[in-house]
Amino acid sequence: MNAAKPQAVSRETFNAVMVPNYSPMAVVPDRGEGARLWDTDGKEYLDFAAGIAVSAVGHCHPNVVAALTTQANKLWHVSNLFTNEPALRLAEKFCEATFAERLFFANSGAEANEAALKLARKYHSSQGREDKVEIIAFNQAFHGRTLLTVTAGGQPSYAEGFGPLPGGFTHLPFNDVEALEAQISDSTCAVFLEPIQGEGGVTAATPEFMVACRELCDKHGALLILDEVQCGNGRSGELFAYQYYGVTPDILSTAKGMGGGFPIGAMLTTAAIADCLVPGTHGSTYGGNPLACAVAEAVFDLIHAPEALENVKQRGEQLRAGLKRIGDKYGVFSEIRGVGLLLGAELSADFKGRARDILTACLDEGLLVLVAGTSVMRLAPSLLISEQEVEQGLARLEQAVSSLN
Ligand SMILES: *Cc1c(COP(=O)(O)O)cnc(C)c1O
Repeated sequence: MNAAKPQAVSRETFNAVMVPNYSPMAVVPDRGEGARLWDTDGKEYLDFAAGIAVSAVGHCHPNVVAALTTQANKLWHVSNLFTNEPALRLAEKFCEATFAERLFFANSGAEANEAALKLARKYHSSQGREDKVEIIAFNQAFHGRTLLTVTAGGQPSYAEGFGPLPGGFTHLPFNDVEALEAQISDSTCAVFLEPIQGEGGVTAATPEFMVACRELCDKHGALLILDEVQCGNGRSGELFAYQYYGVTPDILSTAKGMGGGFPIGAMLTTAAIADCLVPGTHGSTYGGNPLACAVAEAVFDLIHAPEALENVKQRGEQLRAGLKRIGDKYGVFSEIRGVGLLLGAELSADFKGRARDILTACLDEGLLVLVAGTSVMRLAPSLLISEQEVEQGLARLEQAVSSLN
């Protein structure tokens, strides 16, 4: 075979050939292993970003690589004119481990959320309740970038210039039980929230708020939809954050960590609600593709193990304690938030607006971190990260913070 030599490209190539909607860092990652990455210059990084909570079992986990290569040599795609074994096995595992009785597979978080919102509307309309269309969502929420999900999101700037936007959405302050009580009515179709807001600054719902959402939905015949695209798949220390809260949704969307870096998402629901999505009502060409499902099954098996979930809890506590110590020593953080291995460190008044500076300083020290807005540093490492790796990452973070002025 005559394999063409790869063309030399660099960060500069990006500006020449890509739409400018992203502004990637100067370094270009080249390969990864577990919680570590190396860039094209060979520099090593500890990865506390995990591709924004996606690489849930680290980079190139051998079980996942094996599942991918086995399936790659067997069958990639058949379309939804057929079903396939990896999709059915994966759906069975999710049904066994969660409230779900029915699944719909998608390719991304936004697409899983689209399915969730469409299902909620369809469900009420199939019950003869065409008036029940209001979706209550929350400020600072992030649900994706399609027109429907960007409208559901709670950052109006993300929807600017894309109008006219779909109607029927109301936004309320997050964690405000009284505001929800005042707004929800028999015209409410669904209450839609992230149990732990990720992009919006790593803000966890209070237990009282989650309980109130469930009770008020029941009272008004509305569906409770949880967006667990970021906080699901083990990140909270439970398989899903709803299990951490003990509050069961009617519909749940997930993606990010689900495929460990391979694009896949899902909408989970009950049989009674799913019934209205009869043949022809919804679909996705790649949804439930055997290659994606085989990878996600290997990821699921790694995450849905008591020792993995226990590791999330223990490493989460370790990381939280380290952040608190560094925050106190350098006066850099005013609050450490989040659950499990989805943590946010709010910058103190002295460092307000400098999350990006911290990210850059960390990069110099060989540590990848995330931001959530301009004043929160966000961490979401591999769920399988070791105690030593967390310690080493914290040492690099301290080095980075001490270099700030
Ligand atoms: C990332 C994210 C999405 C969007 O997922 P995509 O795969 O980018 O479409 C939706 N909801 C939440 C909570 C997210 O974090």
